[in-house]
Amino acid sequence: MGKYEFAVIGLGRFGRNVAITLEQHGHNVLGIDENEELVQEIAPILSQAVIMDATNIEALKAVDIMSFDTVIVAIGSNFEANIMTTVSLKELGVPRVICKAPTARQEAILLRVGADNVVRPEREAGVRLAEALINPTMLERFALGADTDYSIAEFSVPNCFANQTLAQSDIRGRFGISILVIKRGENVIVNPPPDAILQTNDAVVILGHDKDINAFSELN
Ligand code: ATP
Repeated sequence: MGKYEFAVIGLGRFGRNVAITLEQHGHNVLGIDENEELVQEIAPILSQAVIMDATNIEALKAVDIMSFDTVIVAIGSNFEANIMTTVSLKELGVPRVICKAPTARQEAILLRVGADNVVRPEREAGVRLAEALINPTMLERFALGADTDYSIAEFSVPNCFANQTLAQSDIRGRFGISILVIKRGENVIVNPPPDAILQTNDAVVILGHDKDINAFSELN
């Protein structure tokens, strides 16, 4: 993957973690916050860090925010500042603006004023925790899109399939889900053939309809 230019506005707990993770993966990140202390703290870690009020469109122009492919607006509690910043970024032509919102109503408003994507970290973390508690064999799940009921999920292999070939397990026939990958320790078997044997400590990455994935997750 090439190097993308990211800016993160709001360096609270969420924004700081987004910015540092992108930078650690080799991307150039500009961090922005009006709080001087937060900016000074993060300055040695990021490519660039600036103290400014992001609701001031002239200040956004001065840091050449238009040259960034993606800007993350991680301002949570001051919703007015979040909206004003988002509108300015879209007016200035930033291609992708991703905002953080605490509530569904705020998510809808941010999308209405031009945000390309809105994340709701508390809701997403809450749903993920609940799913992990309900389905302890499910390790990860990614929805394929907001408007589809299909997901990719990673599971520990249910005990009932241990030592069977994929053909014998007939997971595709019984559940309508495809096994994309078998993970065995550090090894990955991508597009496993029908004679691949599932072992007790394997994990599988599967693709399927959510209701079929839920049925699969109830096995053990
Ligand atoms: P956390 O990510 O810690 O959960 P939060 O959702 O509570 O944060 P805030 O603390 O309200 O969000 O905002 C995150 C950061 O955004 C803060 O560090 C704050 O200083 C910064 N911030 C708020 N308004 C502006 C603004 N207009 N310009 C620049 N930074 C701002």
